[in-house]
Amino acid sequence: AKLYRIDGWGAPYFCVNAAGDISVRPHGDATLPHQEIDLMKVVKKASGPKSAGGLGLRLPLLVRFPDVLKHRLESLQQAFDVAIRSNGYGSRYQGVYPVKCNQDRYLVEDIMEFGAPFDFGLEAGSKAELLLAMTCLTRARPEAFLICNGYKDEEYITLALIARSMDLNTVIVLEQEEELDTVVETSERLGVRPVIGLRAKLRTKHSGHFGSTSGEKGKFGLSTAQILSVAQKLQRLEMLDCLQLLHFHIGSQIPSTALLSDGVGEAANIYCELARLGALMRVIDIGGGLGIDYDGSRSGGSDMSVGYGLDEYANAVVRAVMLACDRKHVGHPIICSESGRALVSHQSVLIFEAVSSTTTKSEASPSIWPNHSCLLDELADDAHSDYHNLIAATLRRENETSVQYAEKLKQKCVDHFKDGILGLEHLAAVDVVCDLVSKEFDVADPVKTYHVNLSLFTSIPDFWAIGQLFPIVPIHRLDQRPVVKGILSDLTCDSDGKVDRFIGGQSSLPLHELERGGGAGGYYLGMFLGGAYQEALGGLHNLFGTPSVVRVSQADGPRCFAVTLAVPGASCTDVLRAMQHEPEVMFETLKQRAECAGGDAVSCALALAHSFDTMPYLVSEANGGYSVVSGGDEE
Ligand code: PLP
Repeated sequence: AKLYRIDGWGAPYFCVNAAGDISVRPHGDATLPHQEIDLMKVVKKASGPKSAGGLGLRLPLLVRFPDVLKHRLESLQQAFDVAIRSNGYGSRYQGVYPVKCNQDRYLVEDIMEFGAPFDFGLEAGSKAELLLAMTCLTRARPEAFLICNGYKDEEYITLALIARSMDLNTVIVLEQEEELDTVVETSERLGVRPVIGLRAKLRTKHSGHFGSTSGEKGKFGLSTAQILSVAQKLQRLEMLDCLQLLHFHIGSQIPSTALLSDGVGEAANIYCELARLGALMRVIDIGGGLGIDYDGSRSGGSDMSVGYGLDEYANAVVRAVMLACDRKHVGHPIICSESGRALVSHQSVLIFEAVSSTTTKSEASPSIWPNHSCLLDELADDAHSDYHNLIAATLRRENETSVQYAEKLKQKCVDHFKDGILGLEHLAAVDVVCDLVSKEFDVADPVKTYHVNLSLFTSIPDFWAIGQLFPIVPIHRLDQRPVVKGILSDLTCDSDGKVDRFIGGQSSLPLHELERGGGAGGYYLGMFLGGAYQEALGGLHNLFGTPSVVRVSQADGPRCFAVTLAVPGASCTDVLRAMQHEPEVMFETLKQRAECAGGDAVSCALALAHSFDTMPYLVSEANGGYSVVSGGDEE
């Protein structure tokens, strides 16, 4: 557990159990070991054959834990409730979930259910998200907020006003000054009085990657002058009572409570000024940004970690709002937050399998040895003298000199090979000698490449796009010391499809040897804390589709769990159709071609039909090994 910092990023939900597997504590309670769910057992259940009581799903597998989600939501609410009580704050906390973070239907429905006692609402940033949010909120109490953010055209605003007319507590948050005219005109046309919010462009700047859109020159929101102009315009229209909410979002993963207090304080002052100008202010919406500790360091020094927990976050917000309002004698507003990452990151684990491993250093091939010294004797003069110097330095045990000669020799021979004056066997013999020298002096531990049954672009897009690191850990064999340093290479034909940076600044991951050398599977890894944004961003790169999904809840009985939903991943047919291909026509074309070619047309057709129906990741072969179903060139 220490090696992978599980106690740092995983607490209180993930731990290593006595069997050496990762267990999930669905209610975040370490004192209830009988409620722990062994991830390996979930994998066995989900991927085992149906004939043996399994669900027959293929990996990669996304395991969702709604109990964890419930615990996150309740912990967030509780953190604010405690901060409000202990500071004597005069209003309440009422959060919303920004659906952009993960639009999965069951996840959003779970949030609605778990958040119902607290009037938890939803935030939408597009028309499709608004439709989704409206539908889900029809089952919530009328106080739950429906916050409409994002760029808005007339259609979006019409939809938001319809939501208001349906008694959903809808707030149209202006991101641009021009949106006001459309809101005013559309509300007059529909005869619906809007509730309006303003998104303020704060001066407070979050300097991390996620803060690039914050600050005075940020992409979103209204400047001070624009805020004033909107307020004056609403006053002229006798609509200042419609202005009730002030919103800001300084970026995701806010690194420290100092920066948070600064931003909230600035926004709270704008809130108070709007109240002074006559707006009927009721709500301060502090946006998202509540961070999580991806690397378990709690350092707050990078995008990978934040230096605070839920309680400190809530306390800093409540105090900053209170300070500004008390100074200006303005009533305490409802505090709304749009926490996405902090709410949904922990609730799912992506499990994938290492199917083979290769060492990045070439192994000395015994077949070269019988004549390698003859080959080396045939090197050109300059290379030959380097070779002799290398041997002499090695015999004298001069590590550094040997390594230098090895590098020199290698480079020279590569040049000779490119010039066409060195044969392939000679170059291979040089590689072997140089590798032996570096092994002898243990210059660099060989790093193995583990091929994992996954598309990085589909399942961990932020790693590739913005360098975001997620904890990746074997989910079993943690009672054995990992002896290999490994990097992960996915199954796409893209050179970027590899994970070679890990939390804690490591360039390799401690891994176990695969049990049956090359080819066979059985070594499972989990990618944790990826419940936010990764599913929403992942595309169909290389036409690898979505993973299989299971929802796993804690059940009665010691360490028992129930799989309450099992969804197979997208088939080849599904992903092809998503790109406007017509799998039925493709099948017919290929079938006819097989018939014309005169082979065994019936078995060809059966194999084709099977392929269209399987997941685009891997197909099991009769011998229990795997083969990759993909093609194409490296990008
Ligand atoms: N609200 C707005 C307006 C956002 O742009 C975002 C994400 O960038 C969020 C909320 C969610 O932020 P987070 O996931 O950091 O909580």
